[in-house]
Amino acid sequence: MREQTCPVAFIYDAARATPDVATPSGGMTHYDPAPLGEMAGTCWLCGCPTRHGHPRKRVIKPTFTDGNRARAPWSDVVCEHCAWALSYKSLRNYSILATKEGLLHPSRAEVREVLLNPPEPPFVLCAATSGQRWLHFKGAIAHSKARFGVRFEDVPVWVAPESFRALLESIEELYTAFTKAEIESGNYQVHRILRFGMKRWEELIERVAPHRKSGPFKLALFVAQREEQANGKEDEGGCTTDSIPATKTLL
Ligand SMILES: [Zn+2]
Repeated sequence: MREQTCPVAFIYDAARATPDVATPSGGMTHYDPAPLGEMAGTCWLCGCPTRHGHPRKRVIKPTFTDGNRARAPWSDVVCEHCAWALSYKSLRNYSILATKEGLLHPSRAEVREVLLNPPEPPFVLCAATSGQRWLHFKGAIAHSKARFGVRFEDVPVWVAPESFRALLESIEELYTAFTKAEIESGNYQVHRILRFGMKRWEELIERVAPHRKSGPFKLALFVAQREEQANGKEDEGGCTTDSIPATKTLL
């Protein structure tokens, strides 16, 4: 396999290595080889040189909302890899983990595992939250396990597994008693604090509060699991209704 610098071409090569990929919803997606076009030039989207590109007008639909991210806005060519990548909804609906071994669509719990125990580099990890955005061409090839970039929906996040684990552990301990909405906002309900234990709550808050606006915090909150979720159930992560209204904002 050739050395790649383009995340889209890297994901394409991964799909060639394992064309049948299980999806978190329990299905399978099959990825065909990219149809080769005849246009040469610079890819409008990823900026890579191509000899097998397609006309931009044919590939880029009017509904494409990432036009401002085009690397070569003057170009009328889209490379075979980008044309391929934009033709599969599964590459938008699901998270993506590409390695030299192949392509995976990891579940939220699996993304969590990858963040804590990344694969042998190089790899590309895109964590999708909405399933409505193309992330692949915004991704980056990671070259280190110690610190690597993750495309987390709209934001690039740098993850160092060691510190990420510490942050995640604190968040998950809070998540045993609080909702993700509370952890995200910092507005914790008093009755839950009292039930959880004020002293421990304060210790955990001291650890997580300084990171609350950071990318790693948001990513950790997204992948945070409760014990009962270990058996496959995924939810948005916490109840949003509560019979007892918040009476006081504590943070
Ligand atoms: Zn391209």
